[in-house]
Amino acid sequence: MHKHRQRIFFWAFFTIYLSICANCFLGAPLKKDAKSWSKDATRDHTPKTWEEVFSKPTRLEITALLTGYVLTGPAILIDAKDPKTPEDQKKEQWVPSLSYLVKHPRRGYFLLDSGVPSIDTENRCDFSLIGPLFNIQCKSEKGRDTASQLDELNIPNTDLDFVLASHLHWDHIGGMEALRKRGPIRVLLSEEEARDAGRNFAVFHGYSHKALSFDFEVSTLPKSGFIDMPILGQVYDLYGDGSVWIVSAHGHTEGEIAVLLNSVGGPILFTFDSSHLKAGFQNGVPPGATVDRKKSLETLSKMRAFAQKFPRLRVIYGHEPSQWTDKARVNLEK
Ligand SMILES: [Zn+2]
Repeated sequence: MHKHRQRIFFWAFFTIYLSICANCFLGAPLKKDAKSWSKDATRDHTPKTWEEVFSKPTRLEITALLTGYVLTGPAILIDAKDPKTPEDQKKEQWVPSLSYLVKHPRRGYFLLDSGVPSIDTENRCDFSLIGPLFNIQCKSEKGRDTASQLDELNIPNTDLDFVLASHLHWDHIGGMEALRKRGPIRVLLSEEEARDAGRNFAVFHGYSHKALSFDFEVSTLPKSGFIDMPILGQVYDLYGDGSVWIVSAHGHTEGEIAVLLNSVGGPILFTFDSSHLKAGFQNGVPPGATVDRKKSLETLSKMRAFAQKFPRLRVIYGHEPSQWTDKARVNLEK
């Protein structure tokens, strides 16, 4: 009798929940409209080494936009069960969420990620992953979201080539809704990410149906365009001029990418959430949240080997608090 009652309660709860949150478990039809990215410049000679790539840097302008902070802990940021995880990192903390504005001398502007959404009246940008459940705390200030910062810089959507999404978790595409309000905009991402995020029950890999339902155009990077380079393995020369490199960084999500900018001020590697924290990168500890821990470790170890081989390389981690002050905009070109 007791079990019978439990079952009734369970189904009653489940039915009420589904009626509140009918779409939470459905896939967002990302892949259906996805067009493949095509580059307009292909050089005659493909470089074979990173030394060769770094000998011909491009004058990129790179600005970090600090969009807000997210409250999270080792379940996401760093694997607390790993013996190499420092004790002081096993805690809940407010971590920064960023978007990066890049200006290429010939192609103009693009964004790397779009940060967290704009705020409500109490300076909150909280986000619920599954309807009324799994509320993620987020805080920011007026004017901090990517759209507001671009307004301030007088950069309309028509001047933005695309938003390159490291992956489709809401704290990386949360700024898309406000960006879309300024006009059409497209998101560029890996094929694997588009596929996995568009599946039914994708929420169990951390994708929010709501965040994916914003009306943006999607282009995917063709897998056939990736080449094998020393240490980093599969990479994609985005413009075909050696300035912007997409690095396969799968593990945290199915299609996570990292980005290497070959800038005159020195190369910069953006790990995004393949390493949320500096402590994870330095100690070789993967994030707490991975869809494939083995792949995540492989990604981490190739990026660490790359950083060791090229000490000039600057590494920007996904959400490392010590890399940022409260400043809304930071010029990364030094
Ligand atoms: Zn993140």
